[in-house]
Amino acid sequence: MSADQTPMTRRSIRYCRRCVMPDTRPDIMFDADGVCSACRHFEQRPQIDWSARRAELDEVLDRYRSRDGSNYDCVVPVSGGKDSTFQVLKMLELGLNPLCVTATTCHLSPIGRRNLANLRSLGVDHVEVTVNPRVRRVINRFAFTQVGDISWPEHVTIFTIPVRVAVQHNVPLIVWGENSQNEYGGPAAAAGGSVLDRRWLEEFGGLIGLRVSDLVGRDGIEHRHLIQYTYPTDEQLARVGVTGLFLGYYLPWDGASNALIAQAHGFESWGRTVEGALLDYENLDNLFHGIHDYFKFLKFGFGRATDHACMQVRRGRISRADAIELVRRHDGKYPHSYLDTPLDDLLAELGLTRAQFDDVCDRFTNRALFRTTRAGELLRDERGNLTKVNDDNVDDSDGAADVTAIGAPAGRRAAA
Ligand SMILES: [Zn+2]
Repeated sequence: MSADQTPMTRRSIRYCRRCVMPDTRPDIMFDADGVCSACRHFEQRPQIDWSARRAELDEVLDRYRSRDGSNYDCVVPVSGGKDSTFQVLKMLELGLNPLCVTATTCHLSPIGRRNLANLRSLGVDHVEVTVNPRVRRVINRFAFTQVGDISWPEHVTIFTIPVRVAVQHNVPLIVWGENSQNEYGGPAAAAGGSVLDRRWLEEFGGLIGLRVSDLVGRDGIEHRHLIQYTYPTDEQLARVGVTGLFLGYYLPWDGASNALIAQAHGFESWGRTVEGALLDYENLDNLFHGIHDYFKFLKFGFGRATDHACMQVRRGRISRADAIELVRRHDGKYPHSYLDTPLDDLLAELGLTRAQFDDVCDRFTNRALFRTTRAGELLRDERGNLTKVNDDNVDDSDGAADVTAIGAPAGRRAAA
């Protein structure tokens, strides 16, 4: 090994040999064969007895159904997206009377607004809770500049608001959609029904070290501004017996088929591949999604397109080689626009200039993942895009045994 080939200068990202997920993704594990835990988990799917799971679901729902029709059977948190449209359709099909609850997204798009109206038109009661937009903009800006996550307020309220509404309406059961992290069905699945506590909820929020209480005193934020960002107390949860389940545990969950079914019931897709993605039917409800996903790329070296590509590879819809090409073409591009809304318009709402935005980008970029000049400056193309150090696994036969794989930063969670 020559002096300029030290392991430090030859670091590379390691990718799953089955899909294209990098090992820089928080909470992912690779086995001895170089296959990621998400692929292994998916592999086990054919062994699942879905009719047994369905019987389990019927049993759980029956346990929580309102006996005399005087209250709702469950709360369904809904964004208005294809998955929540599918969830509501399933609940209605199963004869339930759900109360649908939306925590309005940080920057609701017109198409997102139309899809919420469509969801209501399926025939459900719907509560939408919108937090004070002035306070939210302050939090958006603070979270963006401090932890590199513009969507932090949304990640908090999509978990707190449905639970608060469940407590207020005395509805014990909350029916969530997919559980991407765990295999179990949620606390409701436990015999006798276990209560959903704060800890259980915190498993799913990508709060990356910023707590709600940390905001008090920042830029004029007071305790009274944060009511909707606060979980109900343990006493309140226990009084109602609030519990939750994941529909994705009981029904074979597939985004593409959910989209097909949702579209057949009036859900509107974008009609073109969304910026930074490979699909046209996801993440249509918040114009800040593009910035959020770009920061995932800067921090961890993968964005929305990688998520989409991995899903399609696992389901055998595209080859791994095609996935690599699509990811190279679409993933982690500088977010000039999202759903055709220019970046500058989005930044203006936060009172940020383009130069300030670029400065925050630089601060949160993991330089080990991207090509730099000899002087250590990040290399950008004419569109401002970065290039990863490698798009696929470095060939082991190329004498690269001393390549040091870049692991996931400890203690960081993807706010996916
Ligand atoms: Zn994989």
